[in-house]
Amino acid sequence: MRILMISDIHGNCTALEAVLKHMEGLWDYVWCLGDVVGYGPNPNECVERLKTLPLLCLAGNHDWATLDWIDVETFSADAHRAVEWTREQIHPQNRTFLESLPIKYMIGQYTLVHASPREPVWEYILEAETAEENFPHFDTSTCFVGHTHSAKIYRLTDDGQVEIHAPSYDKPYDLSGQRQIINVGSVGQPRDQNPDAKCGILNMADNTFQHFRVPYDIAETQKRIRAANLPERLAARLEHGW
Ligand code: ZN
Repeated sequence: MRILMISDIHGNCTALEAVLKHMEGLWDYVWCLGDVVGYGPNPNECVERLKTLPLLCLAGNHDWATLDWIDVETFSADAHRAVEWTREQIHPQNRTFLESLPIKYMIGQYTLVHASPREPVWEYILEAETAEENFPHFDTSTCFVGHTHSAKIYRLTDDGQVEIHAPSYDKPYDLSGQRQIINVGSVGQPRDQNPDAKCGILNMADNTFQHFRVPYDIAETQKRIRAANLPERLAARLEHGW
């Protein structure tokens, strides 16, 4: 089974469509690690497109914020405004979809969460120390996360340290014989100084994972953000990947 791994689509259906088209034929099933909505101009289209796919989807903090399930005090002003806008836009049946999403899922030798195994909806794994503290919080060899919008591999070494590896986009990474936390990157709002949509392919047969970068029509998404009267910064940041 080959899994298309996506996360943090954030209402950017232009990027989502580009990823699905670019990766066509390379996968059998889709695992989405949450934040389907928030920031972007097409929350309903993203949910409705996901519903057409063979899919396992988890909840992210922006999905919960849209449902009013979490306090958005800690959100930036732009994120807060986007949450309010998304709440107004989201159709009842798509709200029901967001309500149904689990926050943690274990399947075979893989654990899936949006943020971290310790705090599945909230915690940002951005450095080795936080990653190291999270390894005791899952039992499988590999945990897949999103949330930071930055594709990375946090590998636990034999002496209990964590090495951070940048993704290699041109070849698969062998997951066997070690433990790792893999951030798959963001489809709809990358923050790794590269504006392309990010995704990955997990090949369960040989236990390998590869990150991918997919260019998409950023100007189209920016146009839609501006037409929706969402904060200008949410449009501008897309072309810089931050
Ligand atoms: Zn996110």
